[in-house]
Amino acid sequence: MRKLIAGNWKMNGLAGPAQELARAVRSGYGADRPFAMLVAPPFTALTAVIATLKGSPIAVAGQDCHTADSGAHTGDISAAMLADAGCSHVIVGHSERRTDHGESDAVVNAKAAAALAAGLRPIVCIGETEAERDAGKALEVCRRQIAGSVPDAATAETIIIAYEPVWAIGTGRTPTPDDVAEVHADIRAALGQKLEGADRVPLLYGGSVKPGNAGDLLTLPNVDGALVGGASLKAEDFLAIGANATT
Ligand code: PEP
Repeated sequence: MRKLIAGNWKMNGLAGPAQELARAVRSGYGADRPFAMLVAPPFTALTAVIATLKGSPIAVAGQDCHTADSGAHTGDISAAMLADAGCSHVIVGHSERRTDHGESDAVVNAKAAAALAAGLRPIVCIGETEAERDAGKALEVCRRQIAGSVPDAATAETIIIAYEPVWAIGTGRTPTPDDVAEVHADIRAALGQKLEGADRVPLLYGGSVKPGNAGDLLTLPNVDGALVGGASLKAEDFLAIGANATT
């Protein structure tokens, strides 16, 4: 499977600097690269970034969407709006959404279903907290999140999973390669109980991925790419992570 290197810019980037970042990523990324790339800018920079990346193979994602198509939901953005803006993907269930906005598996499931209905490919984030890992519950938590957050309508071709241990996000800490491989294998098995062809679902690892550790992480079995936060804000680092992504 061609690996996917996805950049989550979070709440960073006014339209001008976001456009510059997109331009730098575009110019450093040759279409002949053996990996796919995606960026998820803040909503207000989507139009500028999409215009900058037009005609390039780099995909653009929203960072969240509402469960409904439209309606009285002040401050929210629907999947249909993201598709209309030119997005092809949307991140749902990021741990910062689960924590800051109290999003449950049921809400994440409904968001992913809304994304599918709008023709977007959801990137469903799951991952255990540090306390859960210390209690030996990492696999159990991820299985529960897969069961609860992946909508029935998802297929191997339409969904992407990102395993992001909460304690590894933005901390500079990562699980050992063995731990990542163990969780990814277990996620693959859990997906097999939900849909056909689970071996074709891209499983991304996220949490403090940097150019220096990308080689170790991206060569693990069942790791089909990376969801990158901090290091995706520097085109050079983001592209250097991708350089470790051979098929
Ligand atoms: C993320 O927020 O999805 C993430 C993985 O962040 P970082 O790479 O900064 O840990």
